[in-house]
Amino acid sequence: MKVLLHEMSWPEAKEYFAKSDIVILPVGANEQHGPANPLGTDHLIARSIAEETAKRTGVLCLQVIPFGVSAHHKQFWGTVFISAGTFKRYVGETCLSLSYCGVRKIVVVNGHGGNLAALSDLARELRENGVFMSVFQWWPAAARLLPDLFAGEERRHAGAEETSVNLALHPNLVSMSRALDEQPRGHAVQVEGLTLPLSTVDETGSGVYGKQSTASAEKGRKVFEAVVNELVRHVDLLKRARVEDLTQKPKV
Ligand SMILES: [Zn+2]
Repeated sequence: MKVLLHEMSWPEAKEYFAKSDIVILPVGANEQHGPANPLGTDHLIARSIAEETAKRTGVLCLQVIPFGVSAHHKQFWGTVFISAGTFKRYVGETCLSLSYCGVRKIVVVNGHGGNLAALSDLARELRENGVFMSVFQWWPAAARLLPDLFAGEERRHAGAEETSVNLALHPNLVSMSRALDEQPRGHAVQVEGLTLPLSTVDETGSGVYGKQSTASAEKGRKVFEAVVNELVRHVDLLKRARVEDLTQKPKV
């Protein structure tokens, strides 16, 4: 059975949507992840998690949306960035076009933390319009499921955790000979509780936050398996959930 939308013909899609009101949509970014990792890291990982979950659940998976909210990485070559508003509208219109096919449940697999605010906003708006969108992110899932696998300094942007997942999924795209560790710089005015409008170059010269050199494919495979299992659990629960129980509640 096919589970990737772009591989189906329209009669095959019709057959799927006649029986099912749920899809998986991976989204990510195309941004720097230090000299060792590919620019596509965030969308490639999201796509792999989404497609594997689709295979295991029989739920249809869409093509990955590769560009996201990444302006804070723009000083590094090859980063492609769009605004939060444009991203939200693009994902939103994608979801609404699916609702024309009868889709009421959309599981977004987000590979880039910078997209989360726009996705959370969008999920609330869609719920008001009768479409329930959930957002899954693998790194908080991994931290809960595998708390002992990586130290805090290995868990940040382009660190050993993310690099390990790249090594597990597409080792040919990672150059471990260029892996490095960099302690990010604090800003002169930084105190506890302060949020500053900084770019990555304000904090690191390489684009790596913390420890990257300890990445391993074996650890990456453990992360991938754990997060896919968790996402499969969510998709199965959502598949069975009644739409009326997911849509917005009336005033009490
Ligand atoms: Zn990333």
